[in-house]
Amino acid sequence: MPRPVGVPAEPPHACRELRAFLDDPRLPVGYDPQFREYWMPVVVAPGQAAVRQLFVFCPWCGAKLPVPLSEQWWDELADVVPENIPPHDPQDWVPAPYRSDAWWRGRFDDDGRLIVE
Ligand SMILES: [Zn+2]
Repeated sequence: MPRPVGVPAEPPHACRELRAFLDDPRLPVGYDPQFREYWMPVVVAPGQAAVRQLFVFCPWCGAKLPVPLSEQWWDELADVVPENIPPHDPQDWVPAPYRSDAWWRGRFDDDGRLIVE
């Protein structure tokens, strides 16, 4: 059954400790279902936008996390990417399935290999 709109995607890894961080908006750890990325913001200099430091392993239990799929995401959307993407792009040009985990669930293994066309 498809997940109702507005319900956050369940991350592929969410041990108790990681789950506690993801569920608390005051804590600087995030999961992006669109790219299957776990991350923390890193502010390089005061006043500058934070960049994301991705996690390869769970910082709490040490489990290897699934490989992020941002490269595959960009590959699949290469034909619809606008010429000049503005800063803080709202991604209105992104087809709906690619705004969530709907495009990769059941298609890629944990190493990022395509298992279903
Ligand atoms: Zn963990």
